[in-house]
Amino acid sequence: MRLKDKVALITGASSGIGREAALLFAQEGACVVVADVEDEGGRETVSTIERQKGRGAFVHADVSQAAECQRMIAAAEEQFGKLNVLFNNAGIMHSQDDDAISTEEKIWDLTMNINAKGVFFGCKYGIPALRRAGGGSIVNTASFVALLGAATPQVAYTASKGAVLALTRELAVVHARENIRVNALCPGPLRTELLMKFLDTEQKRQRRLVHIPVGRFGEAKEIAQAALFLASDESSFVTGTEFLVDGGLTAAYVTPE
Ligand code: NAD
Repeated sequence: MRLKDKVALITGASSGIGREAALLFAQEGACVVVADVEDEGGRETVSTIERQKGRGAFVHADVSQAAECQRMIAAAEEQFGKLNVLFNNAGIMHSQDDDAISTEEKIWDLTMNINAKGVFFGCKYGIPALRRAGGGSIVNTASFVALLGAATPQVAYTASKGAVLALTRELAVVHARENIRVNALCPGPLRTELLMKFLDTEQKRQRRLVHIPVGRFGEAKEIAQAALFLASDESSFVTGTEFLVDGGLTAAYVTPE
């Protein structure tokens, strides 16, 4: 088992990548704290873990709120005695996030508060817990759009994910000697609710699909596998990276037909 005796906290684990990672981490031996604003989905993730004979616990947490992040970290230590892995994965892509001219300030603020400040809060309260455990691994979900301009505009989202990459690099350098590794995970376009709601017409989906060399959207499970590698000791010499899992998207120059 790749996460035997580890305690992992995953934000945004009520659905998508977070849920798949929670199930996989539990199968690999971790006790998993599932944190999310969606209580029903979060409890369902924990029930599935328990049906598969794993150990999990749900904690309601809005990652844009400092006190709730502090509480979720405390919950991990209270329930399972320590924290070894922090997967800051919660994020939103708002339907009214557009180009710079059309995007309203409140959409910008909401997106930055969850996607960027949420990662900061996770680290602010999570790093002391990782220290208490003698070190650990932080995985922050960014996106390929932090490295490339997306053809369908979403300026707040793109900027928030750029912030996640910059934050990840600095934390990796600052905490390297404390045995705390910090990596960003950059998924390509996935067939999850988050993206399918945003690309809500076949035309929009096709516009994104032409850029992916493998010719399909990725699956949340495929990102969970990459998160598992970064979370586990198998990646013990990997820190400060932008780990791309994108079906070749960033390597390609593809002319839309
Ligand atoms: P998803 O919508 O299935 O999951 C996101 C989860 O985050 C949900 O369970 C949601 O309830 C939770 N969440 C939202 N706001 C929250 C908050 N304030 N506090 C706590 N939880 C909150 O989407 P997903 O595709 O699994 O996305 C997970 C991460 O992956 C996000 O950071 C997203 O930006 C990133 N990502 C997704 C794609 C994609 O194509 N789907 C690509 C690149 C990156």
